[in-house]
Amino acid sequence: METHSQILAKRNPNECPNCLKTGVMPFYRVSDIPVHSVLLMRSLELAKSYPRRNLELAHCPHCGFIFNAVFDPTVHEYSTSCEESQGFSPTFNEFSRSLAKRWVETYGLTGKTVLEIGCGKGEFLTQLVEYGAGSGIGIDPAFIPERLETPVSDRLRFIQDLYSESYSHLTADVICCRHTLEHIGPTHQLLSMIRQNIGDRKDTLLLFELPDVYRVLKEPAFWDIYYEHCSYFTAGSLARLFRLTGFDILELELEYDDQYIVIAAKPSNGNDQSPLPAEDDLALVAQEVDQFPSRFKEARKKWLSLLGKWKAASKKVALWGGGSKAVSFLTTLKLENHIDFVIDINPHKQGKFIPGTGHPVRGPASLPDDPPDCVILMNPIYQGEVKDMLDGMGLHPEITCA
Ligand SMILES: [Zn+2]
Repeated sequence: METHSQILAKRNPNECPNCLKTGVMPFYRVSDIPVHSVLLMRSLELAKSYPRRNLELAHCPHCGFIFNAVFDPTVHEYSTSCEESQGFSPTFNEFSRSLAKRWVETYGLTGKTVLEIGCGKGEFLTQLVEYGAGSGIGIDPAFIPERLETPVSDRLRFIQDLYSESYSHLTADVICCRHTLEHIGPTHQLLSMIRQNIGDRKDTLLLFELPDVYRVLKEPAFWDIYYEHCSYFTAGSLARLFRLTGFDILELELEYDDQYIVIAAKPSNGNDQSPLPAEDDLALVAQEVDQFPSRFKEARKKWLSLLGKWKAASKKVALWGGGSKAVSFLTTLKLENHIDFVIDINPHKQGKFIPGTGHPVRGPASLPDDPPDCVILMNPIYQGEVKDMLDGMGLHPEITCA
């Protein structure tokens, strides 16, 4: 395996890994953040001593791509201890199910073979097959077979590995990839490899879903920037990547309260396709990138002042959501004593500790015995779900959405 310095030395620091043109510009830097934020720690000591690296976002003026220019891919240990699954939230589950159903119906996937790159624990692939897809092959180093319970298990196959050229023999009608491309540094290289693996099977359909960075820049939702995510797309930069590597775009939409981009594509038939309206975002993205540093400073000031006020009033403060957003919020703002604990509904996260800051993660059931005065909700989309749960326990803390 190549070392980080070998990888960096080989890469032209000025080159965009998405369109391969030169002239990228750094615009945002966070130092010493944990290299993993979905890997929760078993002890406070492990959490506090977890490896850290810097993040430096750079923007490509040619394709609008944003990426961590000092990303070190050698630090990641994508394994079965990754707890990236959002499948414990009813809201996310409902979205995931409706997307699976829509894809099966819109693209006629009944009876078709689906290959999912980065299938995680396999929940989505299972849903596709439950809704009618013929069979599924999932590839992910973090797959855990024991966790999967479904009546369609005989139509599913999983490979515990990273996708590579060595899987070109796996033929499928559909290549699906959700919340994975943002973890890949050389995005142009990956899409080129997929195109090459498809060969002359030009009917192969690509269905991808990943976070949209435009909203992150605009809000600014700085907690959506963290180490595992080295690649940040807008609808335009994603479409440009697909076109550059030999695909035509069939669909380009924002979903889940505009948090995710959904793209459908097919190998290009050689005829020039005119760009979709959603692709025309180069100037807008450049403008948001320009404004992001000052917006972040403002947001940081606002949060530190609110948290300082709560601390002065001896309020007990909890973060709701123990995922990457919470880790990034805590470590970007370098918060230690301002937050008492983190709440998460995923039982696999409870009893563990946030890497970097060491905050304990508890389940909602512990709240009646030790209720927080203030709750910061990391994802406003779960507001209804969280409020119902708190009301059900007779708890009424002040809820602030990140
Ligand atoms: Zn570029």
